[in-house]
Amino acid sequence: MKAQPKASHFVDGAWLEDRAGAPVEVIYPATGEVIAVVHEATPAVIEAALASSARAQAAWAATRPVDRARILRRAADLIRERNPALARLETLDTGKPLQETLVADWPSGADALEYFAGLAPTVTGETIPLGRDFVYTLREPLGVCVGIGAWNYPSQIACWKSAPALALGNAMVFKPSEVTPLGALQLAEIYIEAGLPPGLFNVVQGRGAVGAALVTDPRVAKVSLTGSVPTGQKVYAAAAAGVRHVTMELGGKSPLIVFDDASVEDAVGAAMLGNFYSAGQVCSNGTRVFVQKGIKDRFLARLAERSARIVLGDPLDEATQMGPLVSAGQLEKVLGYIATGRAEGARLITGGARASLNTGYYVQPTVFADVTDSMTIAREEIFGPVMAVLDFDTEEEVLARANATDFGLAAGVFTADLARAHRVIAGLQAGTCWINAYNLTPVEAPFGGAKRSGVGRENGHAAVEHYSQIKSVYVGMGSVDAPY
Ligand code: NAD
Repeated sequence: MKAQPKASHFVDGAWLEDRAGAPVEVIYPATGEVIAVVHEATPAVIEAALASSARAQAAWAATRPVDRARILRRAADLIRERNPALARLETLDTGKPLQETLVADWPSGADALEYFAGLAPTVTGETIPLGRDFVYTLREPLGVCVGIGAWNYPSQIACWKSAPALALGNAMVFKPSEVTPLGALQLAEIYIEAGLPPGLFNVVQGRGAVGAALVTDPRVAKVSLTGSVPTGQKVYAAAAAGVRHVTMELGGKSPLIVFDDASVEDAVGAAMLGNFYSAGQVCSNGTRVFVQKGIKDRFLARLAERSARIVLGDPLDEATQMGPLVSAGQLEKVLGYIATGRAEGARLITGGARASLNTGYYVQPTVFADVTDSMTIAREEIFGPVMAVLDFDTEEEVLARANATDFGLAAGVFTADLARAHRVIAGLQAGTCWINAYNLTPVEAPFGGAKRSGVGRENGHAAVEHYSQIKSVYVGMGSVDAPY
């Protein structure tokens, strides 16, 4: 199986290769096969990307928002037309099953292009009367933005970052994760086909050092990172040196709280979606499932039954419900956490081992019960199909325990008592919450984290704040009253 792109990078409207950059092998996680090799961006490639973005951005900022919107909408149409092929490529790049990539990855990216195309022409300033004089405000683009992606939703991330950036008149240089470099290149080509002027969306490949070189370049006005907390801390600090704008979409260890009066079927279904979708490699997953003692036994029984029926297999078979983890390194990490869970005394309900399907990086959907707050699997982000179920007695107790973490990305509550649901949500320290649902992230809703899980928000109207800045203009309508 091969998925070799035409070149490693896409810069200034064209494919660009520079074999002097270190090679990065792209591995299909279901077989371990090398399906492509790309080269890390050299300083010359990075320079070409930043220079062309800076050149193109000023003219783009001067265009009418409706004209920008038309291009984004065309790009969204192209994505939808090509979704089957794009989904297949996403599956090869990530190992996620077609059953998911056909409906979740590029379709959600196309939603973002359509949403921000619609939103951009409605973004206006305000007029502030001051008697004789007045102030008006303009909402201006930031300039050249850098987007840095994680490997779990590579194409969705490229769309979620570039759509608001471009719609609001910015340019973007995007560096995908070195683990999943393929999808963003397709997006760059689609934008050009849709009529985007060259240079406004450039893709350069590379590991952390390439990202670091982009973040510190004086031409860069903003950095949007999706990644882990330790990387976020480094990138935020580097961006701070140049007082750059940032959006940080980082990790989580989110609580999903199930009260006694909840529908067991719905809560189990949500807990499974929130731990096993994308083989558990989702930042907002509800990996600490707090279950009230009154329904614990029924909840665990249904969870074990339904989890055991999950179909693992060839991700290219549309019947497959769960694919492998993204890499050998991630497989080792997740198996390590499972071993630690057992060693620290958590009770294994189902799964708990590598799935011996073929040479791929498969792990069985795994559920631990009787997990306590101090166990490693309840404290650290695992990023694999490993659910920790914890018990609780009272609302007050569960709220305190749910918040006892440095993370604050997401949270969910299942209960039939809506007053309680809103009360608990009000007390939860998390940026993205659900009531009787989990992990739905429509582009209309702001998405992002509190505490160490992030800064800023993607999607929704909130994203406008993060890809534009206000210019305030005082207009003097009379003579200048100077005392000297
Ligand atoms: P990672 O932190 O290892 O890497 C993220 C990106 O940062 C990669 O492109 C990497 O090359 C780049 N990078 C690494 N060091 C850098 C540096 N010093 N300067 C600039 N760039 C650098 O994360 P990952 O393993 O790719 O992804 C998994 C993590 O991402 C998890 O923690 C997950 O929770 C998080 N995530 C968050 C969200 C969200 O929206 N909050 C979404 C998806 C994933």
